[in-house]
Amino acid sequence: MVNFPQCTIAHNPRLPEHCVEWVTSILWPKEQPFGPDVKIDGDSVEHIQWIVEHATKRANDHNISGINFRFTQGVVKRVIPAVASTNAVIASICATEVFKLATSSVMLMNNYTMFNDIEGIYMLTYPPEKRDDCPICSNVPVRIQINETAKFQELIDLLTEKYQLTAPLILAEINGNLKTLYMTSTEQMRDATKPHLRMTLQELGLINGTEMLVGDPTRASSLRVILSLTSSMETATTK
Ligand SMILES: [Zn+2]
Repeated sequence: MVNFPQCTIAHNPRLPEHCVEWVTSILWPKEQPFGPDVKIDGDSVEHIQWIVEHATKRANDHNISGINFRFTQGVVKRVIPAVASTNAVIASICATEVFKLATSSVMLMNNYTMFNDIEGIYMLTYPPEKRDDCPICSNVPVRIQINETAKFQELIDLLTEKYQLTAPLILAEINGNLKTLYMTSTEQMRDATKPHLRMTLQELGLINGTEMLVGDPTRASSLRVILSLTSSMETATTK
């Protein structure tokens, strides 16, 4: 069984394989098109046809072409690997580390390496250290100050500018439930969360101390953000 980088499949498809994999790993379990607990049968024409249809839709949304029945069946039955080169590179790096361990010939890799083959091959390795107060590697929440009368759009603008986001996904814990407040990766969610933009933080149930999770295609992990609301009077006197 091959494993795929879920970030590529979920947010950043570039190849037709990614679209097929998205349908089989995310859409199929959600929609259960042939009834509950019916697993995908790579030899079933109906199953493959359903996957072709939905993968084509996703491919069109991302300007990707090349999906047809034969191709889709190939990906479903793992004849065509979804993210082939990534797996091959990781496997070869693992094998190299084993060789180094076994022979003590070279220093071992220490927790990090980068591989880039967009133009030629570029590789480097160094051990990054963890910083205790870092929002990324230590997952420490950051505080963001905003006026309590602000609209949700203003909060998004503030976050987007401060953390250089491109298409933020915002979740918040409201009355004990994790709620999706803003999401643009699918048309359905964009339409569903767009009305929030014009609402005030209060109307959305965001209060002082609310913790939000902010994700973005530019970030490897989501950011924990704690709201710190200021009253209009307070802002006036501190300015
Ligand atoms: Zn860090």
